[in-house]
Amino acid sequence: MAKLPGKTTYSGIRRTTTRKSGFKSHPDSTGGEYKREEVTPFLLEAGKTLTVCFRFPVSDGQTYVGFGGFFQCENFVEIVFHNSNSVKNEFSRRTSTDTSKFGSMWKRNGISENVTISFYSKVDTYVALYGLECGLIWHDAFDTAIENDQLGYLDNMYSIMPEAGFYTNEGEVILSYDGHLKLHNHNIIFHLKSCNRCARFLPINVNDEREHLCFSNHCVAKAPCRHKGFGIVTDVDTGETKLLHFGYQLECRFCKKYYVNMPLNWQRTAAQMKEDGQRRRNFELLIAEIYQLSPQLSYRAKTGRELLDDIWNRFNGHCFNCNDPLENKRKMHLDHTRPLALLWPLDGTATALCATCNTRKRDRPPSQFYNPDQISQLSQLTGLSVDELMAPEPNHEVITEILNRLDWLYEEFLTKPSLLMERDGKIAAELVVKALDKVLIRSKIVKYNFSFVDEYNRRRDRHITFDINENTDIIV
Ligand SMILES: [Zn+2]
Ligand SMILES: [Zn+2]
Ligand SMILES: [Zn+2]
Repeated sequence: MAKLPGKTTYSGIRRTTTRKSGFKSHPDSTGGEYKREEVTPFLLEAGKTLTVCFRFPVSDGQTYVGFGGFFQCENFVEIVFHNSNSVKNEFSRRTSTDTSKFGSMWKRNGISENVTISFYSKVDTYVALYGLECGLIWHDAFDTAIENDQLGYLDNMYSIMPEAGFYTNEGEVILSYDGHLKLHNHNIIFHLKSCNRCARFLPINVNDEREHLCFSNHCVAKAPCRHKGFGIVTDVDTGETKLLHFGYQLECRFCKKYYVNMPLNWQRTAAQMKEDGQRRRNFELLIAEIYQLSPQLSYRAKTGRELLDDIWNRFNGHCFNCNDPLENKRKMHLDHTRPLALLWPLDGTATALCATCNTRKRDRPPSQFYNPDQISQLSQLTGLSVDELMAPEPNHEVITEILNRLDWLYEEFLTKPSLLMERDGKIAAELVVKALDKVLIRSKIVKYNFSFVDEYNRRRDRHITFDINENTDIIV
């Protein structure tokens, strides 16, 4: 059986090669989801040193090189941090009841020197490590900053680590210890909160919230913050409400910087466009394959030349919206009419549009783009009822076919190499199952007692493998 991708429970000890990088994310994240993550710390014995070493891949000088992580230890533990690649580092040591963070990012043509962080204690104690990562870093937001002439947003990159650690190429994180490294006998809690933009769960501090980590505070002067999602968060495991004092922003510091603060020439960022494009392509592919698999659906499907001729003739070579004549069939843009996001294929009900109108309409349903006269005209031309155009239902035939082929969906379709690809910490297959759940809930006439995301997680969790190595050299 094929293995589904994705982030599994972080065990504290894990081989770099088995993970997909980044932090777990939560479907439909609002930024108000809270999570406690238990981590088993290492036993740091009196007089001994535990060292974490970050080894970097070769860089071409264009992408960033960086590392980052979080830890918890007692105040008396001595820490030595060494990074000869960058004079500027984010390193904030918090008190033992809270989480500390460290990280940096720089550009280098060639090999970067190893970075080390060592923990030493005169008495037996513990060191809990979380989210240690290193490697080459890039994110679509950096392209967006360049394209929109916002180069200032690429200054001081070190300061948004570790949360800007979108690793495109992972290095190695190696633990060494002058002795036989053992686990401590009590677990440590790392408190996490979701980001409403990147959907990752990232560490927060709950004792001294002013010692913030990946999210800035929300209400400082007017504390306590009683804004839902900011100062009032929900534990995703217990459903319980947790009150914070200053509260945290819904977006992580990375997303705040690039999606909220950065002024853009375009209303939608390049990253959003790419994600939309990817989701559209994957839905097109899914629908095409379902039509091929299903005899009832495939005999009705018109494609290519035949479809193009049909639509051209029906709309008489004019853009349906602005009525401009279209030069030729190649200049005609076919709009789905009923949304692709509801699993409708490009078929005989398509609308002919010019390039400008097609770009303007994008994913909007007909009711949000056309006036009532146009809707009734479109109804006559396409054969779809006015009701269907005003409030399109999901494509129930396709949904039924998918539900009848769950093994195919999860083991063949979602495990295609293109669906296992990860961008910005998001795996294409995960975006597809999330989008499929949105299709189900948008029906006003059928209630589906099924979640593609839950099924995905259930199937994936069967394949969790932890690689715990008891030797002195442990790759985290
Ligand atoms: Zn974020
Ligand atoms: Zn607030
Ligand atoms: Zn037009």
